[in-house]
Amino acid sequence: MKFIETRGNESGRSEKVSFSEAILNPSASFGGLYVPENLPTLDLKRLKDLSYKDLAFEVLKSFQIDIKDEVLKEALSLYDKFDDPLTPVPVVNVGSGLFISELYHGPTRAFKDMALQPFGKVLSSLAVERNENYIILAATSGDTGPATLETFKNRENIQVGCLYPDGGTSDVQRLQMVTEDGSNLKVIGIDGSFDDAQTSLKNLLKSENFKAKLGEKNIKLSAANSVNFGRIIFQTIYHIYSYLQLVSRKEIVLGEEIYLTVPSGNFGNALGGFYAKMMGLPIYKILISSNENNILTDLINTGKYSLVGRHVVNTKSPAMDILKSSNVERVLFTLFGAERTKELMEQLESKNEYSLSAEELVTLRANFSASYSNDDECFEAIESYFERGYLMDPHTATVVKAHEELRERDLKNIAYSTAEWTKFSPSIIEALNIETKNAGKIVSDRDALDEIARITGTEIPTQIDELFEKRVVHTTVVPVEDLEKEILEFL
Ligand SMILES: *Cc1c(COP(=O)(O)O)cnc(C)c1O
Repeated sequence: MKFIETRGNESGRSEKVSFSEAILNPSASFGGLYVPENLPTLDLKRLKDLSYKDLAFEVLKSFQIDIKDEVLKEALSLYDKFDDPLTPVPVVNVGSGLFISELYHGPTRAFKDMALQPFGKVLSSLAVERNENYIILAATSGDTGPATLETFKNRENIQVGCLYPDGGTSDVQRLQMVTEDGSNLKVIGIDGSFDDAQTSLKNLLKSENFKAKLGEKNIKLSAANSVNFGRIIFQTIYHIYSYLQLVSRKEIVLGEEIYLTVPSGNFGNALGGFYAKMMGLPIYKILISSNENNILTDLINTGKYSLVGRHVVNTKSPAMDILKSSNVERVLFTLFGAERTKELMEQLESKNEYSLSAEELVTLRANFSASYSNDDECFEAIESYFERGYLMDPHTATVVKAHEELRERDLKNIAYSTAEWTKFSPSIIEALNIETKNAGKIVSDRDALDEIARITGTEIPTQIDELFEKRVVHTTVVPVEDLEKEILEFL
């Protein structure tokens, strides 16, 4: 299968590219993104009883991508690093028709591992096969960074530059990055928000000077954030798997419609669900939950996407503190075509906003509904579900209000848990009103982890526990302007 571009084709560029081209060089004509020319149709009956890895293999094959079977199999074998290799994605029934599909059982305890673990292997294999060297630049709001470093650490022909907003992540997230040792890794803190980090990365990807300097060193530029279709393809799989889990547990019959609920930021996870729906997975609607950076709620409720006068608000769910939600573009392309997508994206760049027509909004709302929770509402959700015996992190907590308020029909709902509570333990202390030794003071991640583990009888996974003993190897924090220089020095 070939890949085409969301904003149409610029003269001088290939009209269609292979999967490997699209993932090695993910930026398309006019600053657009690559998308598959068409989507495969799922044969759910055939996929029904497969293990996660076998299901994943079948779904990947149905896209007819130009990656060798051995490489795909080796990439998928990385799910063996998850807590339970046979069930990397447990789906937990928490009552009231709500099922939580836990995507965080990988090495960095957030859902980014679902895609990045296999993606790292695929990309490195391509680089070796072509005898080329790549630098991966990743901007992170806290979870992509650790997962990117973890997957590329010491992999051949790949170097990683990882940018995070200094002060915008939890202690655990920061430690996951700054203690990750590998001669091919460079971690840089940015003075600014995640959007600043993402914008400076986008500018760097466009910089001719930077590209020329890389050329001299014979290094090519790639990216591992969720604009890369190589991540999205792996993010269609768990939606299919979770649905089939409900079928095999006789919670639903094959073909029965359900809701999906996705805590969203850059919209990669939700896009994977949307593609699964387009491929024939019986999803009635996808419910999008956000925090107070509720630009997606506005888009889906009013048809207007506007950055005018808006600033990123820091919340207790920092991985969703995003206003420029990149993957919305791919949905616009699927629903409204390249010409319209280009027009809307150009309006966003020049006027900082765009509006869908009334008719377009109806089409969008046939696929999505949306709501957002503020921090207090998230904390209430964490507390009320904890009382029923289920502990969730602040990102996952945003799905509760969506589940309670957005369903027009009495259908089962699969909501995604995108991170383990261990990445945000001081927030859990606050949400559960746990009295600590240092009551009134800000609790450290270390104390919070121990306290919650003690109270709930949960074990802290070793991946988190050992972070506090590891040596910090990355100490660079710079203003955005210095980014290019820092990266070139590293290379
Ligand atoms: C990345 C992330 C999200 C947002 O996912 P998108 O695919 O960017 O919408 C939500 N929650 C957590 C914990 C994350 O790490």
